[in-house]
Amino acid sequence: MNKPPSVPEHFDAVVVGAGFAGLYMLYRLRELGLSVRAFDSAADVGGTWYWNRYPGARCDIPTTDYAYTFDPDLEKEWTWSEKYATQPEILDYLRLVADRHSLRSDIEFSAAVTSARWDEQEERWAITTSSGQEIRCRYYIMATGCLSMPKSSEIEGAGRFGGQVYFTSRWPHEGADFTGQRVAVIGTGSSGIQSIPLIARQASQLTVFQRTANFSIPAHNGPPSADRLKRLDEDRDEYRHAARWSRGGIPTDLTDVFGMTASEAVRRERFEAAWAQGELFGILNVFADQGFNPASNDIVATMIREKIRSTVKDPGTAEALSPKDHYFGTKRPCLDSGYFETFNLPHVRLVDLRTQPIVSITEEGIETADESFGFDAIVYATGFDAMTGALVAADITGRDGWSLKEKWAAGPSTYLGLMTAGFPNLFMLTAPGSPSVLSNMAVSIEQHVDWVAGCLKDMREAGFETIEPTALAESGWDQHVQDCAAITLYPTASSWYMGANVPGKPRVFLPYIGGVDAYRKACDDVVEQDYLGFRMTGPGRARCHDGVVRRMQPDVALVLELLATLGLPPMDTLSAADARALMAATAATRPPGPEVGEVMDGVIPVPAGDLPYRLYRPAGLPEGPHPLVVYFHGGGWVLGNLDSDDPLCRDLCARSGAVVVSVNYRHAPEDRYPAAALDAFAAVQWVDANAIELGGIPGQLAVAGWSAGANIAAVACQLARDAGGPHISGQLLICPVVDSDLTRPSYQDNGDGYILTTALMRWFWDHYADPADRGDPLAAPLRGNLEGLPPTCIVTADFDPLRDEGVAYARALEAAGVPARLTRARGHIHTSLTMVDVVISGAPVRAEIGEALRTFFPNAVPQEPVS
Ligand code: NAP
Repeated sequence: MNKPPSVPEHFDAVVVGAGFAGLYMLYRLRELGLSVRAFDSAADVGGTWYWNRYPGARCDIPTTDYAYTFDPDLEKEWTWSEKYATQPEILDYLRLVADRHSLRSDIEFSAAVTSARWDEQEERWAITTSSGQEIRCRYYIMATGCLSMPKSSEIEGAGRFGGQVYFTSRWPHEGADFTGQRVAVIGTGSSGIQSIPLIARQASQLTVFQRTANFSIPAHNGPPSADRLKRLDEDRDEYRHAARWSRGGIPTDLTDVFGMTASEAVRRERFEAAWAQGELFGILNVFADQGFNPASNDIVATMIREKIRSTVKDPGTAEALSPKDHYFGTKRPCLDSGYFETFNLPHVRLVDLRTQPIVSITEEGIETADESFGFDAIVYATGFDAMTGALVAADITGRDGWSLKEKWAAGPSTYLGLMTAGFPNLFMLTAPGSPSVLSNMAVSIEQHVDWVAGCLKDMREAGFETIEPTALAESGWDQHVQDCAAITLYPTASSWYMGANVPGKPRVFLPYIGGVDAYRKACDDVVEQDYLGFRMTGPGRARCHDGVVRRMQPDVALVLELLATLGLPPMDTLSAADARALMAATAATRPPGPEVGEVMDGVIPVPAGDLPYRLYRPAGLPEGPHPLVVYFHGGGWVLGNLDSDDPLCRDLCARSGAVVVSVNYRHAPEDRYPAAALDAFAAVQWVDANAIELGGIPGQLAVAGWSAGANIAAVACQLARDAGGPHISGQLLICPVVDSDLTRPSYQDNGDGYILTTALMRWFWDHYADPADRGDPLAAPLRGNLEGLPPTCIVTADFDPLRDEGVAYARALEAAGVPARLTRARGHIHTSLTMVDVVISGAPVRAEIGEALRTFFPNAVPQEPVS
């Protein structure tokens, strides 16, 4: 007999998960007057803190900061007993929250949502649960956590072991007694490092199987930090506000000390202070550049390794416990209480799986390549299928029968880490693309939940019932998330942040590393711009303001923010002399650029007088001769000299393997148009004639320039063609001035706020050329004859007023039959590529430029390019 179809229950919203995120989401949805049903497969609230009951489990964010802030009375009533609270205490806290707000009545425990399908007709989610319930809801909210899906044990023979088996992530409620037992722990991440010292207290023998040595610092647990408590007491609101607008979700004074430039004494002092403080965000903030500069990172890493060696008595064990295969911080660092000391106990042994890998788990224990071990219990502390695991496993089907698992097969894709296109009204809290695991979860969760609740309220007030991100907005956010990661050392590690711990999982940097503050600002900006990048629909209405919320490279945005704080006068309000002095002062404080083989200064005798030049010779073998590149600096024909573009010239030399001859030329207003252009041509002639003396290969000569320097480089090419020589193998024009028309769309888009402004460009032109001359090809090479010019590489930057004229020059060259390569500096401004080692995201573009220069000289001896 067929079962009668069950009648679906209807709710406005369904929430999956009753941990930190799910509980607060439920609270806020109720507050909006929505009907809600929450589900959790656990028997009670708690999420992570329900399941992870292993000995030693505690938070590693100070408890003063690891708490809800939405309930001021709760904040006053609850006091944490320790700096880092234990799992039972945090679970008690979450139970109290559930009780205070009577949340349990809307939560079904020991029940899982087994599938969710978007019903296109009804515009509702059709949900089934493990108890066979059918539910329809408008909003489906996943509060399933980032580290909730244990990684399955891929170790050979895992099911064969005859003794006790434990997973730190699914610890039995009754606990485990290891007294007198031979115990194995596999895994030395946070869970392993926290539990190992406590398991060692009971076990008669403890063997720790370590695949990757991990960085850990002592937690120095005790009473909550007096300093943080004092700040909270003085002004709780201010403290919480500071947390919300901090990088990691905890008020932290970000240092401006750079590891590379700090003295040895300052380095040591800062490190020891962070070590003594025992906070993750402290040790990650010893130096401002440790997250992206390998050498600075190594200073911190070396000091931590010294601490490990001074703690662990056996030198071989100390060496094996010292992490050397990843940069500090790029895998989640741990806080411990006596972890390294545990290895000094006579009954504790470390097995380094790098030297003797596990072959198999056996009935009796573990067999490695070298030994057989017998155990009474094996503890797996092997981690999670992080961030995507629980979402992908949840059997979610969106529009057109497309599942989330299918959509994310090559890696997750989200808008703001909150929603994903094709899955209307599906909200995900702390999903990939959100700061989540890189931040204080409590702060991030409250922000996500508040944003979702605010969104639902706004939709209701505007008469909308569905919301979904656009493909454009989502791909823009995905790109931004990857751009933020790419300027750091994080993607270099085989970490769970990269999905590298799960065999076969796509390698994509999962969380948003731009910071809690930057993320919150992006979410707020989206709302302010009428929910930019979201499509909303309702009865008889639809709205979509499509676009990308963050298109600029993150480090460029930081540079602009920093400049804004300096309050410098706009250059176009200064005299030429003052503008030159300002430029020289800023150049004096920047990093020097890469090492090259040789740098020497000289002069070029030309009819108008001597032109100073600086020659950069590549390092390494073969010693030469090399192709030659004559380079002209930028500065609007008014500013700049051999120093101003020195780091860029070094970079071009190192990447291209060519001798770069950077030539200074006469400047306006002292020497106006066409002095600079004529000097450029004279310099090219001289370098060509003296190629052998300069260490160049005769006939292999390119010209290059940035900005106004690219203008005179382009003019020099036209003059050389007209004069029948010298032969020029190629021209590299970086963000060139090639026309005097200041009305192109890129001037409208980027004429203000990105260092080179329309006003400044006008100031440059006024200093350089009379209006009557500005259309002449010697001033505006775009208006000249382009036939017969050498192969060209043009670089344009998205946020450059000169962008469109660069594009126009490339198109015009192509139309004239000249091979032209257009390289787009995505998310960059006019000055980005000159800011070597400051704007790190410029490096891949300069690598392309170096590559382009090499293609100008196909017969040159190849050199190892700088990465
Ligand atoms: P984890 O950091 O991923 O560590 C798992 C450990 O198991 C790693 O040492 C890993 O080695 C090892 N492993 C995995 N598969 C293995 C295999 N097949 N053979 C041998 N070794 C294997 O997992 P976790 O310790 O559970 O921590 C996960 C995250 O949860 C933490 O990073 C943290 O964010 C959070 N957490 C926080 C706390 C806290 O707040 N106090 C406590 C626990 C966890 P590899 O490194 O070589 O992959």
